[in-house]
Amino acid sequence: MDWQLVDLGRDFTAGIKPPESFDESFHIVISDDEVLTIDGAHPWRPLNQDEWRWLGLDQVASHYLGSISNVPLFANEVDQDADNPDGYEFSTLWSFLNQVDQQVFYLVGRARQIVEWHRNHHYCGQCGQETSSFEADRSRKCESCNLMFYPRLSPSIIVCVNKGEEILLARNAHASGNFYSTIAGFVEPGESIEETVHREVFEEVGIKVHKLKYFGSQSWPFPNSLMFGFHAEYDSGELTLQKEEIADAQWFHYTDLPNRPAMVSISGWLINDFIKRAELNQIQTRK
Ligand SMILES: [Zn+2]
Repeated sequence: MDWQLVDLGRDFTAGIKPPESFDESFHIVISDDEVLTIDGAHPWRPLNQDEWRWLGLDQVASHYLGSISNVPLFANEVDQDADNPDGYEFSTLWSFLNQVDQQVFYLVGRARQIVEWHRNHHYCGQCGQETSSFEADRSRKCESCNLMFYPRLSPSIIVCVNKGEEILLARNAHASGNFYSTIAGFVEPGESIEETVHREVFEEVGIKVHKLKYFGSQSWPFPNSLMFGFHAEYDSGELTLQKEEIADAQWFHYTDLPNRPAMVSISGWLINDFIKRAELNQIQTRK
């Protein structure tokens, strides 16, 4: 199976139980938080069966992720302190952003998140006994107290607030670099996603919004977010910044925006979507 011909959107089928026998396979090799890349292979591709066998790294755990055109795909966890094998290099997930297409990024992010979940749930958080893999789905079970552990996802919201032709962008107090982004935050237990939007905007910048419009979602594996993107319109209030979180927040006209997130993130998509619609409005108003 030639990786060059793979279209993940079409060819990847997620799964939990590997086939009993197979002649070919793909392998995403993970050590700690890093993913193995083959020197000189651009764009990135997983290892094939022979490459994985010849690599000679000790495997800690293997996770079946599904199949690509019927070729099984595995995430193989190796020692956290493994050195770079000859001809290979371990790279961070961050370095994949902008380097591979979105579908490949999500696939590698999926592998890394499953490996991390498995590594962090060898023991039960309630009674401390060892857990075991549960066959029926992707989970681990404590046989002693029956507690189940599933891969963890952290839902969060990201919202592009507008006031006429202006967008609200904020500079995070903890982020490095001088760039502005849309407001974001984690969903709290008991909240709906929409309630999170209202609460986060009010907490971080002190204003009320309305007319929420769902935009789309993005898996953001740093370490395990699932971002729900919204547009919202300004309703009332003055900008009042939550100093611990927000270094600065301002209304920016869509034609005069500061440094902002790259187009690989949903924040970038939201801002771009707003700009496109504002430009379209301009054209229609002039007619
Ligand atoms: Zn237990």
